[in-house]
Amino acid sequence: MMNEFELINHYFNWPLSDPSIELGVGDDAALFEIDADCQLVTSTDTLSEGVHFFKDALPGDIAYKSLAVNLSDIAAMGAKAKCFTLSLTLPKLDEIWLKEFSESLKEASEFFKVSLIGGDTTKGPLNITITIMGVVKKSKAIKRSGAKNGDDIYVSGNLGDAALCLKKMNEGIKPNSSELNKLNQPAPRVKLGPSLINIASSCIDVSDGLEQDLTHILRASKVGAIIDSQSLPLSDSVKDYLKTSQDLGLPLCGGDDYELCFTSDQSHQMEIKKLSESLNIRITKIGVINNSQTLEIRGYEGSSKSYQHF
Ligand code: ADP
Ligand code: MG
Repeated sequence: MMNEFELINHYFNWPLSDPSIELGVGDDAALFEIDADCQLVTSTDTLSEGVHFFKDALPGDIAYKSLAVNLSDIAAMGAKAKCFTLSLTLPKLDEIWLKEFSESLKEASEFFKVSLIGGDTTKGPLNITITIMGVVKKSKAIKRSGAKNGDDIYVSGNLGDAALCLKKMNEGIKPNSSELNKLNQPAPRVKLGPSLINIASSCIDVSDGLEQDLTHILRASKVGAIIDSQSLPLSDSVKDYLKTSQDLGLPLCGGDDYELCFTSDQSHQMEIKKLSESLNIRITKIGVINNSQTLEIRGYEGSSKSYQHF
């Protein structure tokens, strides 16, 4: 049976290809260079069994999603992710589980070009915390607080697919593989985020439901907004679901989309259209910022059902 240090070395200490990382896993702390005209951007997200994933979730899916949700936060700042640490709490030393987890994490870290530079390993209920670090040119990060009266409001991709998959699972209906992909393999908008620098006035990643996450932008920017529920970007399966249920709360308040919601001065409309084409990402205008201090959703009477832990 391996001990804690053998575990770390075997599963989480792979060679890194980023030459600006001088020290990764294995010392008391990691060391890496960042350019003088850059700011360090950092964020952390935890995934807990029973809260963020089901007890029988695949280790590879858990690993991928732990990294993806963190990449999404860095993208929402307009920044580029560089490296991350992994704090892993495990109920037991299960080598089959660890092998799948580590292989998937390594694959995702290579795909997104982010290096695992350290972490912590402890025993307890299954819990994965990733702290991610990225860089952005000084004073260029896109905050929640920059939305201005008259700005257009956009959202990337489609909304509600992950929530629909989760709903099916909770109702004992087996989702198909493309639906499961939306929940388990969200695609963080790592190219779109940095491309929005000098275009977006504010940005947030939609993780807890558009209605709640857009409200964060409104509060931080001290503005209001009108959005049109008819303009929400929806996949065919969510459209089908709405036909029979009329449940607009699903795409409006359902979580786990990991799309970007951003605001932008109207003068940037053409640039945004071109960006959408060049990145091959659907970008939809869903409303406009105003001075009302509230969020009005045309065509939706329901109350807020966005996700909150407490
Ligand atoms: P310390 O006792 O100084 O906290 P640890 O024994 O916890 O150090 O960790 C030893 C090294 O292994 C450190 O470089 C740490 O960052 C790294 N490490 C520990 N757990 C993990 C993990 N799950 N993933 C990646 N690196 C890890
Ligand atoms: Mg430690």
